[in-house]
Amino acid sequence: MGLVRLVVMFIIAWLIYSLTCRWLASLDQPRDHKKPGRPAKIETMVCCADCGLHVPQNEALQAQGKYYCSDEHRKRAASS
Ligand SMILES: [Zn+2]
Repeated sequence: MGLVRLVVMFIIAWLIYSLTCRWLASLDQPRDHKKPGRPAKIETMVCCADCGLHVPQNEALQAQGKYYCSDEHRKRAASS
């Protein structure tokens, strides 16, 4: 009998824990959506001319009309 009680207690504790997690997650989400500022805009993705990696245009490095994911790749492409 003691074991059954223990299992029941464990299940109840787990339920409380999972419900609390879900509740906390639901509290967090609307807060993120309410963040003041611009609506999420879709970034233009560009392709690195060296490795082909897709990077947001504002993070990409531009050289000679081509985009690169990093300075290293820009230099490598320039030297070759
Ligand atoms: Zn690259």
